[in-house]
Amino acid sequence: MLGFIIFGTRGVRSNVQEGQFYCPQCDGQTRFKQKKVTQFFTLYFIPLIPLGNKGTYVECQSCRNTFIDRILEMHQEIDITDRPEPKRRIEQQPEVNELEHAFGEYMEAHKKLTLAEKLAAEEQSLGSETQGIAPKGDIQSEKQKVIKKLLIMMILADGKVEDSEIHMFHKVYRKTTGAAVADVYQEIEKVRSEYKPPYQYLKQVAAYLNDEGKIDIIKASMMIAAADSDIDATEISMVQNFGKALELKPAQVRVIIDSVTNS
Ligand SMILES: [Zn+2]
Repeated sequence: MLGFIIFGTRGVRSNVQEGQFYCPQCDGQTRFKQKKVTQFFTLYFIPLIPLGNKGTYVECQSCRNTFIDRILEMHQEIDITDRPEPKRRIEQQPEVNELEHAFGEYMEAHKKLTLAEKLAAEEQSLGSETQGIAPKGDIQSEKQKVIKKLLIMMILADGKVEDSEIHMFHKVYRKTTGAAVADVYQEIEKVRSEYKPPYQYLKQVAAYLNDEGKIDIIKASMMIAAADSDIDATEISMVQNFGKALELKPAQVRVIIDSVTNS
């Protein structure tokens, strides 16, 4: 008997390089790891065939926040102005795992497209979030950007914005990111003008987040869902769907839902 064949796709992370950078969240020099996310075709949940590069991000090894790659260029700019001697960066050869090696030629064929995709995604995330407002020391982590946008999407779901929702937004945002949003109404207008379904949005940004960030995002969405009154089944399944879009395991999402429900 053949039974069911379970297949799908999943992002797998590998190290590209590591070294020192200026982390805006820690507000100082810390170690970073730059990671690459490769989309794999999975069979029975085992990654088998790489389908291309989904994105790269920089992860602070101290606070675990993730940032767009350009943060490393900013680090260099800061170095030039702050130090008379140029500082050498520690660079490592990309870690080539066996599967990737075996499918090297396949990857080569995809390189052109994926580089263009990566640049487009980076442009988009930089363009829409940091346009003309963020000074060098005030770069937001990917987690911050996603929590802000997702919470606003949830607030906008019923078409109206209530004061209690704005109050809740500030509270949840502060609790999950440790930061504050100066002009939330401006952010709301921005999200309104470029609206897309939250599931689709989360699927797109999953490649720029680590597990810590994803967990905080689910926590934040659950806190907003639980804010009105009782949490109903629709809200729970919505949060479960967010977890799915971020490629978290159902059990991981369950733990977060329970912890918010019981607190
Ligand atoms: Zn940090």
